Amino acid sequence: MYYTDHTVLYLDGKFVKAKDATTDLFNQTMHYGYGTFEGIRAYQTINGVKIFKSHEHYERLKRSCALVGIPFNYTAEELTQISYQVLEKNNLKDAYIRPLVYCHPNMTLSAPTGVSLMITAWEWGKYLGDQLVKVCISSYQRPNPKSVKVEAKVTGHYVNSILATTEAKQRGFDEALMLDMNGFVAEGPGANFFFEKDGVLYTPPVGNILPGITRQTVLEICKEMDMPVEEKHFRPEELFEADSAFFCGTAAEVIGIESIEGQVFSKPWKNSMGAVVQEAYKCIVLDKSYSYVIV
Ligand code: PMP
Repeated sequence: MYYTDHTVLYLDGKFVKAKDATTDLFNQTMHYGYGTFEGIRAYQTINGVKIFKSHEHYERLKRSCALVGIPFNYTAEELTQISYQVLEKNNLKDAYIRPLVYCHPNMTLSAPTGVSLMITAWEWGKYLGDQLVKVCISSYQRPNPKSVKVEAKVTGHYVNSILATTEAKQRGFDEALMLDMNGFVAEGPGANFFFEKDGVLYTPPVGNILPGITRQTVLEICKEMDMPVEEKHFRPEELFEADSAFFCGTAAEVIGIESIEGQVFSKPWKNSMGAVVQEAYKCIVLDKSYSYVIV
């Protein structure tokens, strides 16, 4: 349930009831997957309701639009203010915020004639739950960065994600891990990936992945806590020697991985570096100090 009769969303300068909001069926986004979006979380912190890294998310939304040539003129500050209003009008505290930039009616494949902005929010639990997840290696690759702007959060790219997650579930797994066009591990359908080996965390470099804001936060946590972390390309075989692994993303937060293709990681999650990161991440989003999290 993403909205009720009372939900109010932002649409092009107005706050309207979600149930009354409409769109034109001839828009470019619906036909061609040519739109951009974000996924942001707000938390009830000890200092009131706070949107976590709102500025970073809205700068990424603007960058996504710029990368694919969608004209979009809001500032990150305006977008943040509107988001707080959406939360307030719906009395939401812990919430997931979904901005969507979609294009106006235009059935050609040329640049959009105009765009709309919708911002809505709803309560959403951790996307992959709070139990360790069983992961498979997907038969689907992440999109080739020479075909699409893989660093942009474009609606149409998520067909790839849906195919991968659906395949994973059909095979009896919780989630997929996708490789890039060169056969290196890239990311999950909606989250970035880290693994631990001999006291070091590893994650793929940017280039063939969505540069996640949670991924960046994890890198910051590691720096702050003096935990060794490296960005490098690696093949899936390397994971079978790894000690532990996790996904991270705004919707999923930090979630441990139990196994890959049925092979269980040797280190119990509670003793892993990921568990330390998970605890620190929880503290940061809630505006709490995490100095007590001992490595
Ligand atoms: N990769 C993909 C493909 C995603 O959809 C997401 C979710 N936006 C992420 C990684 C994680 O990004 P973030 O931490 O910014 O939510």
